[in-house]
Amino acid sequence: MANNWTEAQINEIVASVLKQINGSASALAPWDATSYGGRKFIGIFADMNDAIAAANEGYKAVRAMSVAEREKLITVIREMTREEAEVMGLLGVAETKMGRADHKKAKHCLVADKTPGTEDIEPSVCTGDHGLTLTEMAPFGVVGSITPSTNPSETVICNSIGMIAAGNGVVFNPHPNAIATSNYAVDLINRASAKVGGPKVLVASVVKPTLETAQIMYKSPLIRLLVCTGGPGVVKAVLSSGKKAIGAGAGNPPVIVDDTADIAKAAKDIIDGCTFDNNLPCIAEKEVFVFDNVADELIAGMMRNGCYKLTLAQANELAKIVLNEVKNDKGQVKHVVNRECVGRDAKVILAKMGITVGDDIRCIIAEVPFEHLFVQEELMMPILGIVRVKNIDEAIDLACKAEHGNRHTAHMHSKNIDNLSRFAKAVETTIFVKNAPSYAGIGYGSEGHTTFTIAGPTGEGITSARSFTRRRRCVMVDKFHII
Ligand code: NAD
Repeated sequence: MANNWTEAQINEIVASVLKQINGSASALAPWDATSYGGRKFIGIFADMNDAIAAANEGYKAVRAMSVAEREKLITVIREMTREEAEVMGLLGVAETKMGRADHKKAKHCLVADKTPGTEDIEPSVCTGDHGLTLTEMAPFGVVGSITPSTNPSETVICNSIGMIAAGNGVVFNPHPNAIATSNYAVDLINRASAKVGGPKVLVASVVKPTLETAQIMYKSPLIRLLVCTGGPGVVKAVLSSGKKAIGAGAGNPPVIVDDTADIAKAAKDIIDGCTFDNNLPCIAEKEVFVFDNVADELIAGMMRNGCYKLTLAQANELAKIVLNEVKNDKGQVKHVVNRECVGRDAKVILAKMGITVGDDIRCIIAEVPFEHLFVQEELMMPILGIVRVKNIDEAIDLACKAEHGNRHTAHMHSKNIDNLSRFAKAVETTIFVKNAPSYAGIGYGSEGHTTFTIAGPTGEGITSARSFTRRRRCVMVDKFHII
């Protein structure tokens, strides 16, 4: 007999089952794409056209705000993000089944603390015999933003802060597998707006995002800029839209460890970075190239930091579990990640091959040849392929090949500045981290601002408010030059 349960009721049951299995879900209230704990989300529309129209009204309201008013709003967004970081972390894990709630909480706090606001929008002035020329960073209008499942609410909030600071409106087409978490964040921005007397709907999203709703976004004349954070398919689609677009695409970050590195520290840093949110961040360490003469020491260090080492035969077996083979249009075999394994705990992945380990195991490592799928594919799982190399020439050559020309992120552990400089120059990545975990590249435990939209393909890099602006010039000839 068919039952008439609502999505919210089903989620309540799921939450209660999760609560029994895992105490971490106990803090969650019932949720779905349009509500949390009975609170109806603001700014979520059934029709993308309505969402775009609402975001356009939000844009008009932002345009009417002074910079100080925008900054006040952003301050409230920061406060609320910190207050609700734990809930969003738990919700992200409960909905996507990926990542770690404690790390997701930390990512939200990072967004709250280190996403630049209006201070990032700096005018420049040029004066001389012929007067004064002013250049200002102006908004585009309504931004259409496509967001991933891996950092869903983090990206919505980070994008919103930067885009609003720049004076834009924004409408989201979030990842369907993270729609409740993403729409929770959209609602948070709108609740913040209400607190400072801003519009009821400042930013907008949809109940059911699809490729079709993304197409509506691409074609709408109200959308002046597209910002896409995701894998190669969606970045390509957005860059082919005919609109101005910012593309933040896939990476496969290699790590080189040479024989001058502090090997114990390198081992800990690599495993800390690789296992952060179970390897979901696009910047996380994905494969290691280590000098042969320090490889045993590095692996021993990793084992002291919660790793389980597979034999090559076991690594081959696991590769068949975590990757599926598909044929493309030309009949070529490609590998796609098994979504049942992406962002899962190491012990859950190991259990799929009949290996039982405790919670102390946070990463799976294996010595593999360069051609192995653990090196070549962006798994987004706490699995690290390790390749032995003879010297720095071989390390740089193989690491650059494994990065596949994404020019996204690379890491190195070394005290030899020649080696560090050579790799940094050769790999040409947007982010290059030396002697630290990968998350140092987005300002976590390091200097510099943060972002969850790292735009390598289109060159904006570590995006911030100024990335979402257009330069406008105002010229006064022969006047306003006062000396
Ligand atoms: P994904 O590529 O599966 O999806 C991203 C978004 O695009 C989703 O909203 C999805 O529904 C949509 N989408 C997919 N194909 C589309 C198409 N053809 N047209 C319109 N929309 C489409 O992303 P994911 O699995 O959630 O995220 C992981 C990927 O994103 C990884 O490759 C990761 O490296 C990358 N990523 C990059 C950054 C960065 O800043 N560069 C940040 C996070 C994730």
